[in-house]
Amino acid sequence: MNRHTCLMLFLLLSITAAVLLGCDSPGRGRPPKADAVSVLIPTKGNTAAGVVTFSRAKGGVRVVAEVTGLSTGAHAIHIHEFGDCRSSDGSSAGEHFNPDNQPHGAPDAQERHVGDLGNLQADKNGAASLDIIDPLLALEGEHSIIGRSVVVHAQEDDFTTQPHGAAGGRLACGTIGLARQ
Ligand code: ZN
Repeated sequence: MNRHTCLMLFLLLSITAAVLLGCDSPGRGRPPKADAVSVLIPTKGNTAAGVVTFSRAKGGVRVVAEVTGLSTGAHAIHIHEFGDCRSSDGSSAGEHFNPDNQPHGAPDAQERHVGDLGNLQADKNGAASLDIIDPLLALEGEHSIIGRSVVVHAQEDDFTTQPHGAAGGRLACGTIGLARQ
């Protein structure tokens, strides 16, 4: 075998190995490429910040959240109706996103707001992560969350108190927009 043939064979084998090893395909457990993203900015006097991504998935929309700067424990996370995080207390984001005019509830409840995503659980360092597939969220149509916002709250969502789940103040707010692919 001459040098040229040998080199070509080496390249071919390298490419084959790369394809077989799935260098370009998403691995198990790896977050998918996001279709939409929300960068959470702390409201005045708070430290909560993070990123939430949304991607199309079988059975709904996959929501992956990474949030830091929380107090240890449970913090409600919702999608609110306006993608408007201008006010220093997050109130400009409005109420929960509720296009079907349902009562507030848990993410797995029969009756809930589309925006009811439940709670984050912050560890001793104040960090929380969430990875769920939500059946009601959508990235187009009546239930589209594009242009709305993610709000993280000071308190735990009790899933019962109407219409906010007794979730308290707003620690962080982030507009949901299209993600760069
Ligand atoms: Zn809320």
